[in-house]
This record gives sequence, structure tokens and C-alpha cells, in this order.
Amino acid sequence: MMATKKTLTTSAGTPMPSNENSLTAGKRGPVLMQDYQLIEKLAHQNRERIPERTVHAKGTGAFGKFTVTQDITKYTCADVFSKIGKETKVLTRFSTVAGEKGAADAERDVRGFSVKFYTQQGNWDVAGNNTPVFFVRDAYKFPDFIHTQKRHPRTNLRSAEAMWDFWSQHPESLHQVTTLMSDRGIPVGPQYMNGYGSHTYSFWNKNGERFWVKFHFKTMQGHRFYTNAQAAEVIGKTRESFHESLFYAIEKGEFPKWKLMVQIMPEKDAEKTAYNPFDLTKVWPHADYPLHEVGILELNENPSNYFQYIENAAYSPSNVVPGIGFSPDKMLQARIFSYADAHRYRLGTHYEMLPANKSVVEVNNYHKDGSMRFFENFNENPDAYYEPNTKGGPVADPSVQEPPLKISGDADRYGNDQAYDDFKQPGDLYRILEEDEKKRLHQTIGGALQGVSEHIVKLQLQHFYKADENYGKGVEEAYTMIKKNSEATSEKPMDFTKENPNL
Ligand code: NDP
Repeated sequence: MMATKKTLTTSAGTPMPSNENSLTAGKRGPVLMQDYQLIEKLAHQNRERIPERTVHAKGTGAFGKFTVTQDITKYTCADVFSKIGKETKVLTRFSTVAGEKGAADAERDVRGFSVKFYTQQGNWDVAGNNTPVFFVRDAYKFPDFIHTQKRHPRTNLRSAEAMWDFWSQHPESLHQVTTLMSDRGIPVGPQYMNGYGSHTYSFWNKNGERFWVKFHFKTMQGHRFYTNAQAAEVIGKTRESFHESLFYAIEKGEFPKWKLMVQIMPEKDAEKTAYNPFDLTKVWPHADYPLHEVGILELNENPSNYFQYIENAAYSPSNVVPGIGFSPDKMLQARIFSYADAHRYRLGTHYEMLPANKSVVEVNNYHKDGSMRFFENFNENPDAYYEPNTKGGPVADPSVQEPPLKISGDADRYGNDQAYDDFKQPGDLYRILEEDEKKRLHQTIGGALQGVSEHIVKLQLQHFYKADENYGKGVEEAYTMIKKNSEATSEKPMDFTKENPNL
């Protein structure tokens, strides 16, 4: 049976007489300005786009649930972990980092891995990546790093020269560069990769004890990736392979799952580890801090509207709940500010009241007015719009104050702290790779370095050698071989910062 058709209306709800024929003076026009319905329609089209994210613009995602399988209440009093079997609704988003909104999915890039837990204590966001580490450890370097991943100001092309120039001067990037250039650099779909909170966060329990914590989402589908050659073929067929992989799996009822695991470090241990446990370019070795299972994340619902729920989804490390806290990680501290700030710019002042971001529990505060104030007073009490008041307005709850954190040291800029060993962990990663993975890693880096200035290549090769002699040797050989072959076939590698030498 045909559903009864609804009447087409303007945004103000008035019925429209036509959605096809302009109101014109005479059969051949011109169009009358009083055809407001037409003006409204065109004006809406002009406003269909919001600023794309400066990073992580291209994304996919889905709704699902998180179920607690193990008791970790001795570490945290967060309600989301309060009981085995407890289920919490989640919204996830997975993305590439550098490519714009229309970029091809199967490009070698870090993947964003964000989970919004709609908990009974408000939203908890894990806004992480598919890698446990990052390229830089200080937020001062973040905008510069991102500029190297984006387009050159003159050519408007991506620049391998800029990327390697930056990386070669930042040995701390080597760990993430190795991960990115390894097989895991081009995952087939979100369900075939791990996710990591990446930063160190904290847990605190009902006795006021603090633990440092790292979050790991381990894929239960196994790792699947494309080689460079496979990815080139995939991109020739579809730009949306990553999105399609997740979307159709869920449509078919093949609901992807991850095991949420945590590494726990007692608060005092942070003073003892050989590495800085708050350095985003380092992992905590599993031998020192083993993984504990916490629960299962399952995705089971494609959103009914992509824009509404995935484009509008706003993740921020600032969204923690009582029982989960921050750490001194310098990058985390900066992201606490910058992610929420990016959403205010991208989506508007009240972005957290949009359906994707709205908490499942009541929101009460004294924020007032502003753009997009499309909802009513929070506290159903219009007289209580300031604090303190005697009008029954919302009040703070001191019981959710996290335990005090002892901080000491002189205020200074500690960038040149030579205590960091930036080469050991990338070397550890290299050494756990299988022989064929190592070969692909050498080839991928050797290829990616083509066309880059010799002095930069030399500097970067030193980093690989310092991580592991065989790593340096393997990359150098692959680089030299690819260069020789391309010279022999007169296919000159492109220097994207200058004119295209092939033209
Ligand atoms: P372990 O051998 O205990 O752990 C190795 C880890 O590396 C596992 O989590 C594994 O994840 C992951 N891994 C395996 N193959 C690859 C690959 N090809 N690319 C990226 N990651 C891979 O060693 P350590 O804990 O001492 O860590 C050694 C190195 O492993 C580190 O320097 C780091 O680069 C990397 N690593 C470590 C992690 C950690 O938290 N300790 C997390 C992820 C990577 P999986 O189970 O999914 O295969």
C-alpha cells in the first residue's frame, strides 16, 4: 500500500504550490523576486557544507554498544565499568588524517579511531588513532607537522620533500613513521585494525587511588591491509573502500567487534620507568605492563543520516567522566583545548546539543544564548540563570572531584631533554616484523623517499640506522635500487615543491 504523501512545505511550514516551475513574468520569464520558495531552496543549497575538519576530514562510522566483560572497579569508579554485563551505547568514527573530504580511502595514512560512550555520567570520548604513538610529543609542533601533510602553498600539491624534511629533523617521529610505512599503514576497513587511546590517561577508584592507563581496542576480525600495489588498484575502482567495508559489513549483519584492553601503571611507577610514560611517541612495553581485558565493543547500526551523525560527531579528549582523568602528557593537554575549540568553530557554540553529541543524561549548566541556541533552558527554571542563586539552579557535586595530583618542577621549556631515546622503540617494532613485512617496509620507505633532496634522505637514513642496522641498510638499498631503476627508465621522480620535471 502506498503511504499517504505529505505536503511539501517551506522551512517555515507553509505549503508550497510547486517545486519545479519558477514564478515568472510571462511564459518566458524573468523570474519574480517574490518567488521566495525558490530563493530559500537555493540559499539552503549554498549552506549545505560546513567547514571540513582540518585533519581527519574523510570519515566513516557507526553506532554500537560496549559491554563490560571483566571487573576493573579496583582501578576506576567510572560508572561505564561498574558491572560485568553493563552495556553502553557508543558512536564511533574512523578516518584518514591528511586527505580532504573527497580523498581516496585506500591511501597510506594514520587512521583516526574515535569512540563516544554515552554513559550515565555524560559522554566519555576516546579520540585516538589506529597507532599507539604519534609523530610529535609537543603541541607546538602539531600545526607545522600537519602543514607538511597538506598541500604546498604554491603548487597546491602534497610534498614528500616537506614531510621528510620535517621527519628527518624529528627523530621522535621515527616510531610513528615506521608504523605508518609498515603493513598496517593501509587497513582494508575500520574493522580490520586496532584502535588506541594513544595518550596516557588516568583511572581513579572510590578510595581516591590513581593509576595511569592506556586504552587498546584489539580487532577481533584480524588485521587486513592493502599493499601499495593493491591500494593503487582499489583507488582506481573506488575512493570509498574503507567506508564501504564497514558500511556493508554492518548492513549484512556482520557486526565488527574489538576487545577493549587496558594497561595499568600504579601512579608512583611513572617516576621509575626508563622512558617518559606521558610521552606520546612511546608505548609501554607489554612485558612491563600487560594488557587486561575490560569489555567488547560491537558496531551494529549504520546511522540513518551520515551528515547528522558522522559529520556532526564531535569527539574530544576533554570528555572524560568521573573515574577517568587526564595525565601530564603534553599533547593530551593541548588536545583537551584544541578539539573542543575546533568543534565550536566547525559546528557552532552549542555543538554538544546536536543529536550525535547529546548526552543521554540531563545537561545542566549556566552557558547562555549564542548561535544555535535551538533548545530551551536546561534547568526548566528561567530565574536560575546565574550562580550562586537561591532559585534552585544546578549545583556542583564535590564527590566527583578527582584525587589531588602532586606536581613539581621548575616552569621551563624542556624541548632539548636528551634523556629521551627516540630510537629504541622504533627498533623494537622493526625487530618484531616478519621478514616479508620488513622487505615491504624497506620498499615503501625507499619509494616514498624518491625525489626528496639528498641531504634530507641522508639525515633520515641515519635515523633508520640508529633504530636498527638492518633497518637502515634495508631502506638505503631499496631507495638506491628504486632510484637507479627509475633513472634507467628515465622516469624522473617528481619534486613536488618545484615544477613537475616530467612535463
Ligand atoms: P610485544 O611483542 O609485547 O607487542 C608487540 C605489539 O606490536 C602487539 O601489540 C602487536 O599488536 C603489535 N604489532 C605486531 N605486529 C605489528 C605490526 N606489523 N605493526 C604494528 N604493530 C604490530 O612488544 P612490546 O610491547 O615490547 O612492543 C614492541 C613494539 O611493538 C613497540 O615498540 C611498538 O612499536 C609496537 N607496539 C607496542 C604496543 C604496546 O602497547 N606495547 C602496541 C602496539 C604496537 P597485535 O596484537 O595487534 O598484533
